[in-house]
Amino acid sequence: MVAVLAPYAANELRSRGRRHAERTSTYRGEYQRDRDRIIHSTAFRRLVYKTQVFVNHEGDLYRTRLTHSLEVSQIGRTVAFALQLNEPLTEAICLAHDLGHTPFGHAGQDTLNACMRDYGGFEHNLQSLRVVDVLEAKYADFAGLNLMFETREGILKHCSTKNARSLGDVGERFLERKQPGLEAQIANIADAIAYNNHDVDDGYRAGLLSLDQLREQPLFETRFVEVRERYPDLEDRRLIYEIIRRMIGAVVSDLIEETRRRIDAAAPDSIDAVRNAGGPLVSMSDAMYDQHVSLKKFLHKHLYSHEQKLAMTRKVQAMVQDLFAVYMEDVTRMPEDFAFAASDSDDPGRARVVTDFIAGMTDRYAIAAHESLNC
Ligand code: MG
Repeated sequence: MVAVLAPYAANELRSRGRRHAERTSTYRGEYQRDRDRIIHSTAFRRLVYKTQVFVNHEGDLYRTRLTHSLEVSQIGRTVAFALQLNEPLTEAICLAHDLGHTPFGHAGQDTLNACMRDYGGFEHNLQSLRVVDVLEAKYADFAGLNLMFETREGILKHCSTKNARSLGDVGERFLERKQPGLEAQIANIADAIAYNNHDVDDGYRAGLLSLDQLREQPLFETRFVEVRERYPDLEDRRLIYEIIRRMIGAVVSDLIEETRRRIDAAAPDSIDAVRNAGGPLVSMSDAMYDQHVSLKKFLHKHLYSHEQKLAMTRKVQAMVQDLFAVYMEDVTRMPEDFAFAASDSDDPGRARVVTDFIAGMTDRYAIAAHESLNC
C-alpha cells in the first residue's frame, strides 16, 4: 500500500528542515533518515538496559525502555497510517521519545532533578532533545544527529517557559501556546497507550496485580467478560494477553475515529493550521479517555506505588545521589572525555556534564559504577 499524505500531515517538502544543511539521500526520505539515525544512535542501544517500571535485573521478560519504545512505535505507526499522516516521522519520534531517560526510570529522573536543583534542574524530555541535538557524537560534520525540525518538535513533549526561551525554534510553541504537528501528538498518546497496557501485563506477571483487582477497571472488565464468554477454558496467562490485545485494539480504534472526527470539524489545510488549532486534534473520545485515565490511576496506586517498587526506589535514589556527589567532588572519577569536559567549568557547567554522564548510564552500569565508589 502506498500512503498518500493528507494536506495537514508533516511533509518533508515543506519542512522547517535541519539545523545544518545536508544533501538529500537517494533512497530514503528525510524522516526515514531521522528514524535510521535514531536506531543507529548509542543512546537507543542503551535503552535495552534501562528500567521502564521494573529494574533491568528484576526479570528478563519485563519491558525495558527499548521494548517500550518499540511498542509505542507500533501503536503510533498504526494510527499515523490510518489517518494518512507521516508514518516514518511518527516512528522516528516514538523511537526517540525516551532517549534522555536516566537509569532506574522515574526514580532516577526525580533524584537527578533534585541533585540539579541549584543548576537548572533535570528533565528527561529535555534530555532526549539534548541527546539528539548535542550529545550523540557520530557524524563528522556536526554534533548530535542533526534531525529535522518536526522530529525535534515531537521529541520535546513539554518544557518550562524558562527552558523554552533558551531552545530557539523548538521552544517557540511553548511560549506562543501552539500545538505540535499531528505526528507528534500521536507519539505522545501512543506512549500512554503502550505503558497502560504493557504495565498491566508486567504487573500481573510480577504478581503485584491480581485478576480481581484488574476486573475493577471498566477497560479491562469489558474485555474480560467478552473473552471469558467466548473461551471459557482459557488459562489465565493467555486470558490476560487476549484481554490486553483487545484493550489496545479498542483504544487505538477509538483514537483513530475520534481524531478523524476532530480533523473533519477543524478542517486544517496545513501543518501550520494544526499548530494554530487552539488545542490538540489527536484525541480519544471522552468516554474512552475516562476509562484510560482510570486505568492509569489504578496503575499508579497499585503498581508504581507498590511497597516492593518503593523499596527499590529508595535504593536507587541513594545510588544516584552518591554518584552525583562523588563526580561533582572529583571529576576525574568519570571517563576521560567527561572529565575533560567538566574540568574547566564553573559549578553549573560541571553539574551538567556529571548529569549527562549519569543520565546516559544503563541500570547495570550505574550499579557497577556505584559499587566501584566504595561508599
Ligand atoms: Mg515512554
